[in-house]
Amino acid sequence: MKHWLSKRAALFESSGIRKVFDLGAKLENPINLSIGQPDFDVPGRVREAMIEAINTKKGGYTPTQGLGILREQWGEKLRKQYPHHTDRNVFLTSGTSGGLVLTMLVALDPGDEVIFTDPYFVMYDPLVTMCGGTSVPIDVYPDFKIDVDKIAAAITPRTKVIIFNSPANPTGYVATRAEIEAVALLAKEKNILLVSDEIYSMFCYDAPFISPAEFNPDVLVLDGYSKTHAMTGWRVGVAHGPADFIEQMLKFQQYTFVCAPQVAQWGALAATEVPMDDYVAAYKRKRDRLVDGIGDLYELGNPAGAFYMFPKAPWGTASEFVQKAIERYSMLIIPGGDVFSRRDTHFRLSYAASDETIERGIEALRRLAKDPD
Ligand code: PMP
Repeated sequence: MKHWLSKRAALFESSGIRKVFDLGAKLENPINLSIGQPDFDVPGRVREAMIEAINTKKGGYTPTQGLGILREQWGEKLRKQYPHHTDRNVFLTSGTSGGLVLTMLVALDPGDEVIFTDPYFVMYDPLVTMCGGTSVPIDVYPDFKIDVDKIAAAITPRTKVIIFNSPANPTGYVATRAEIEAVALLAKEKNILLVSDEIYSMFCYDAPFISPAEFNPDVLVLDGYSKTHAMTGWRVGVAHGPADFIEQMLKFQQYTFVCAPQVAQWGALAATEVPMDDYVAAYKRKRDRLVDGIGDLYELGNPAGAFYMFPKAPWGTASEFVQKAIERYSMLIIPGGDVFSRRDTHFRLSYAASDETIERGIEALRRLAKDPD
């Protein structure tokens, strides 16, 4: 079978997150703090819209760019948000991941460089490789602040794309207005495509969300419903940006994903009617409880958004620490090394979990920090 495989297939391994998930499936009553999706259900109004779509036989292809009515809803929102972006176009993707794939297929030639901050979302690095590019991770430890000078120093004539993700997975870091503006203006000045992954925009606990598109009309924004409405399995995302680039993405969508699933697009249309404030408030409370519960023993790096934090392992490598957490407490957390980072010093903690799981997690983490053996 080996000779069937491309050189590309041999370039990367399956995600280390999958190993933790596989292990989790075998453990009895684990303390599961590894989940990258909301622990609430798809809101009832959205489920009803999807059931109605099935019952009224709305299950065929949609146009490549998505249902007209949903695109119009987005168009209206974007015209209000960015009144001066006359060239901004929008379409529905097959999840935010689908948007990321199309972006890289359109942007990259072999050897082109893509800058992103390290720690990074698990998909960025292999996706860049898959599309023939070269990843250029910028280390932002220990506080995850974005130093624009470091990004500027990493730019070469081959730099094509900067991927920006705030609120961030896996750190929960929310960039400041000054950081966001600086990155947006740098991309403009250097004529580099800035891709803003805004999938966690709803989950900002201490300050309102800010997009780099506010400072640079050429920013390509990738958004989606997976996290905001717990629709991870329904695969609806959104891409909006300069019309020419969107046109190219649509060409690739036509020949790959075809369209976002129609039933889920009807759900997405109903999603805007659902107030989500209570859900966000619940995560803020969970974040506060965790910071309160372990902040004296772990370096947490100001987790202000998404539903993650990325503490430093108090002893050993992150992989060693996680191994012990699993062995001793059936606690599932994800080590940074090989998954989210070039370093293996920190681990991801997701608080998209029940209050009871979080309490059990706090107790186990406190014991582990004090007792390596
Ligand atoms: N970007 C980030 C930062 C994410 O955390 C995720 C999901 N974990 C995605 C993109 C992909 O989301 P989707 O389910 O919409 O493909």
